[in-house]
Amino acid sequence: MSSRRAVPAMNRLLEDPSVAPYESLVGRDALRELIGIELDRVRAAEAVPPFEVIVQRLVTRAQAHAATGLRGVINATGTLLHTNLGRAPIAPAAFDDARAVAQGYSNLEYDLNAGERGSRYAVIGAALRAITGAEDALVINNCAAAVLLVLDTFAKGREVIVARNQLVEIGGGFRLPEVLERSGAKLVEVGTTNRVYIEDFERALSPRTALLLRMHASNYRIEGFTHEPSARDLAVLGRRAGVPVIEDLGGGALCDLAEYGAAHERTVQEAIGDGVALVTFSGDKLLGGPQAGIVAGRANLIARLRNNPLLRALRVGKLTIAALGATLRCYRDRAARERLPLFRQLAATLEELSERAKAYVEALPGASAGESVAYIGGGALPQASIASIAIAVPSERPQRLAARLRAGEPAIVTRIEGGRLLLDLRAIAPHEDHLVIASLLRLAG
Ligand SMILES: *Cc1c(COP(=O)(O)O)cnc(C)c1O
Repeated sequence: MSSRRAVPAMNRLLEDPSVAPYESLVGRDALRELIGIELDRVRAAEAVPPFEVIVQRLVTRAQAHAATGLRGVINATGTLLHTNLGRAPIAPAAFDDARAVAQGYSNLEYDLNAGERGSRYAVIGAALRAITGAEDALVINNCAAAVLLVLDTFAKGREVIVARNQLVEIGGGFRLPEVLERSGAKLVEVGTTNRVYIEDFERALSPRTALLLRMHASNYRIEGFTHEPSARDLAVLGRRAGVPVIEDLGGGALCDLAEYGAAHERTVQEAIGDGVALVTFSGDKLLGGPQAGIVAGRANLIARLRNNPLLRALRVGKLTIAALGATLRCYRDRAARERLPLFRQLAATLEELSERAKAYVEALPGASAGESVAYIGGGALPQASIASIAIAVPSERPQRLAARLRAGEPAIVTRIEGGRLLLDLRAIAPHEDHLVIASLLRLAG
């Protein structure tokens, strides 16, 4: 007789005294989605379970959904460094090192040879010097903090010259003119929106000039009649005037992305090679490591950053140092680098992605695989693209299916394009394929 039980109505569950309290915790839409997922499961089962069992399962789902703390998400958006999804996944070796250090004590600020206090920045500094060719380097909380520290150290109450076409806002409300203002530096804009020349910088130099700043205006592009001075020209001018040139690279590529079929992106090594005095970049963008901000460049300037009391407020913890150290060790050769999830994603060939796509197409009725464009993203390179393969999942209501996939366990974030729900395979780890397929079978079936 149990198989004759009716599937309960959505409203009855929404109003159930055990379920209703979750509305304020997870929101009405999410709660409806969770009930929808559970009802799909009930319909797919051989027999409809008792109402109380359904309520209990729903409460478990809602609790998991409401649980504070981060949840893992499967990234099917095709944006590899998605800032909202936590940017670069870290390598297993980076996690292992962080875990080992977290579970015990470490030589974080202790010189084991001398048996006395050491520097928190020593180990990482050496690795960064070796990779970037810079004289010295410093790691702090993130790249925004790195820019702030540089401005605070060198430009407080003085002038910073910036090309007008580089006064950008990057994601998360980081607007260069406002950061400059907060740091107590005075902004001197030169050139026009489309054309800036080295002579514009030269004319703006004064005894009050503290820095020449170059900012990677990566999230927008001015096309047509444009000009800007090269970093090399700026470095020559800076040396002549005795004013350091700072370049905020953001992305922090330590290798040539052209090796992976993406457009070449300026690397940290190139900036150092051009004679830029200090380069700032992120740890969790193209470097493929944990959140961090790195300043690399001339030793005498890094020494001044180290002596800034503000450094204490921006310092990184041991987990970051351990994970970043392990990440940098992967830069010894290309094979090791591809143990970093970002580079494994970039290195996957279209043939490999197509091969994986077959499992989706075979399992999911009506699904098809097609060429797609994945983006590197991350605020660093929103426009840099790389060819990819995506699965199109047929659905009358793709937005609704997308919402259900987000509410699922694991949560899956997809992309909707031209009214179709797409799953781009490039940022999905191969070991996640079966989880995605199972969720879709449950929801779309
Ligand atoms: C991303 C970015 C930043 C900020 O980096 P965070 O590590 O997120 O603080 C600063 N400048 C540029 C050019 C960037 O692309």
